[in-house]
Amino acid sequence: MWRASVLTIFPEMFPGPLGVSLAGRALAAGLWSLEARDIRDAATDKHRTVDDTPAGGGPGMVMKADVLAAALDAIPQDGRPRLLTSPRGRPLAQSRVRELAAGPGLVVLCTRFEGVDERLIKARQLEEVSLGDFVLSGGEPAALALLDACVRLIPGVMGKEASGVEESFSEGLLEYPQYTRPAVFEGEPIPEILTSGDHAKVRAWRREQAEKITRERRPDLWEAYSAQKGPK
Ligand code: SAH
Repeated sequence: MWRASVLTIFPEMFPGPLGVSLAGRALAAGLWSLEARDIRDAATDKHRTVDDTPAGGGPGMVMKADVLAAALDAIPQDGRPRLLTSPRGRPLAQSRVRELAAGPGLVVLCTRFEGVDERLIKARQLEEVSLGDFVLSGGEPAALALLDACVRLIPGVMGKEASGVEESFSEGLLEYPQYTRPAVFEGEPIPEILTSGDHAKVRAWRREQAEKITRERRPDLWEAYSAQKGPK
């Protein structure tokens, strides 16, 4: 079973949205497991302190390396990758999500305040992962998003196995546009090709659209896609 351990000072945020819909059904069915551990349980003083003032001064608080190390070390070392939510991390990409989903699960440390003592990251070799170039108030929403992305790829979780194959990023392209009934919406019809019944034409049109949208919206993805297609 794919197993997730989350370290947080707000364990009540979990499973939260992961207890609903696709991920929630899979959780109930035992296709994956989730434990949210309270970092404060690893604190040793009576106030259950997890943070302290930043060395060198400045605003805010920094999460303590000793407490977080104790919290991490209380989780058995079973080969699961250990991640840290951080705006300084590598932006999360579908390629990494696929790798994580194919593995045994993960341990994710959610921090708050100004972040965590740098020495912890080195000492426990944490993989820093970012949701994007913006700042959250805490790592929990990032952990929820990361887990949501992984869980839907666990075998048996998605209804049609195929729905994970032909979607955005799966081939380095954004997805083609989708349509459904009504046939005409506010004067705008569904593109004729999609109702033609000619599957080869539909496939070609979708590929064309995916390429066009990727080229227009994400020059970075397009460049990588073209480079990879080029030599073939
Ligand atoms: N002072 C820090 C921001 C701290 S935000 C800085 O300037 O880099 C508080 C916490 O929210 C972080 O420790 C991290 O766990 C989480 N967080 C904020 N933005 C995030 C992002 N884009 N991706 C993942 N986690 C994020």
